[in-house]
Amino acid sequence: AKELGRGVHCFFEPGMDMALRKRRSLERDLRHAMQENELTLHFQPLFDSSQTLVTFEALLRWTHPTLGPIPPTEFIPMAEESGLILALGEWVLRTACRTAIGWQEGYRVAVNLSPIQILRGTMPALVQAILNETGLPSSRLELELTEGMLIHNAEEALEQLVALRQLGVRLVLDDFGTGYSSLSYLHRFPFDKLKVDRTFVQRLESDSSARAIVNAIISMSKNLNLEVTAEGVETLAQFEMLRAQGCHELQGFLLGRPMPETEIRHFQPLFGSQ
Ligand code: C2E
Ligand code: CA
Ligand code: CA
Ligand code: CA
Repeated sequence: AKELGRGVHCFFEPGMDMALRKRRSLERDLRHAMQENELTLHFQPLFDSSQTLVTFEALLRWTHPTLGPIPPTEFIPMAEESGLILALGEWVLRTACRTAIGWQEGYRVAVNLSPIQILRGTMPALVQAILNETGLPSSRLELELTEGMLIHNAEEALEQLVALRQLGVRLVLDDFGTGYSSLSYLHRFPFDKLKVDRTFVQRLESDSSARAIVNAIISMSKNLNLEVTAEGVETLAQFEMLRAQGCHELQGFLLGRPMPETEIRHFQPLFGSQ
């Protein structure tokens, strides 16, 4: 039996591929990252159509002690699968609100939420508690969500979003255009604004159908009383096109990269003072 055991062990060991093992150990490390102060938030500015800085989006950063920076596109899905996203998301929300209360200019802060946080059913109470604790007015908090979960859990999601909106926070539909649902369907949800996905913005200059899609999104949003933000603005040409089409807010490397909190007060916007 012992031999068989060892044999089985030897048989499976090489079969468990490196990727899976690496992932397991990364998952373990992420659990410690919060206590070990390896997590930080960076903040990326959003400008309105008159080039006034209005909001900073909080973006999570993890610097692993030996592996260095790990991109959120790698560790967020991991945190979602392991359930760690709940603790992580709470940390992000609290840290973002605490940071924003120190901004004398009154900028809003936008926080990304995972569908798992919404479907837990406890977000409205948590948001209210963190707003009370930090003293941040609800009007200065925006919550960014992707449409994915809305289609699959429409009833639960709607209930949670309505409750969140009643707190006075603004709800933003992130990565718009990458999913399958139509804008008229999504209008059933209490969103204040939508963010046109970066992939459309990147194709604006070279692809007339991308231009037509963005145009259609913007004009339909107006009819539905939704504001429109464009993310991923990297060139002046994209910036001009989006402004000409009537985009309310713009965000992207051209206008400002995500930065640590300490850099915010030294930040010089592309278009001078605001
Ligand atoms: P997202 O919410 O769509 O965030 C925008 C991403 O695009 C950010 O990447 C940002 O750095 C990047 N970006 C901004 N402007 C430009 C640009 O002009 N060009 C290009 N090429 N990229 C630009 P990041 O920080 O790596 O985040 C990736 C994704 O990870 C986010 O996408 C979001 O889905 C997720 N994420 C980040 N922080 C959090 C968090 O605190 N909670 C949750 N649930 N998800 C988060
Ligand atoms: Ca976002
Ligand atoms: Ca986005
Ligand atoms: Ca995205």
